[in-house]
Amino acid sequence: MMERLPLIWWLGVQGGGYSALYPIYLVGEERDDLQFVVDIDAVPQPDIEWPSIELEMDPSYRQQLTKIRLHQRPFRAAVLRAYRTSCAVCAFRHSDLLDAAHIHEDGAGGLPVVTNGLTLCKIHHAAYDRRILGITPDYEVRVNADVLREVDGPMLRHGIQDFHSKQLMVVPERRAQQPDRELLEARYRVFLNAS
Ligand SMILES: [Zn+2]
Repeated sequence: MMERLPLIWWLGVQGGGYSALYPIYLVGEERDDLQFVVDIDAVPQPDIEWPSIELEMDPSYRQQLTKIRLHQRPFRAAVLRAYRTSCAVCAFRHSDLLDAAHIHEDGAGGLPVVTNGLTLCKIHHAAYDRRILGITPDYEVRVNADVLREVDGPMLRHGIQDFHSKQLMVVPERRAQQPDRELLEARYRVFLNAS
């Protein structure tokens, strides 16, 4: 870590195989938690084949994975770059007011990879997290039925309601960076259950 040497991370994937992630760098040590912080920004993102969330992992391996905390900063940079610094829903372009949102939430084990990310402005990020706004696996925006019926000022009408049933305005050009449809579907089901 101190010499900033490139390392190879042999990441166990489905079927007992391994995927070689190279180069990765250790950028921090968290002694109390016995873990290192790994920067994966230099690895070409399409090369990363994460073990699927549902995969039955060897318990000792699962434990190993939880001891590696991925570096979060490159996630924001990579996601904003993929969306050309624009909100996926409304195309707003002021980077100070843009977030890299997780589709599968990071608190629930979502990975910091571009295909699990969406660039969203602050209001659309909050609306997505609070299930006011959903995104279908076909990249269409849906607004919670109760919120659709509400009557309020221009922010509600133009900022939220008008996007109902519209396609995302911005998606990454490269297919390998576009949002993962299975992750979107799982998240969309949560949105439907909340509406
Ligand atoms: Zn927006």
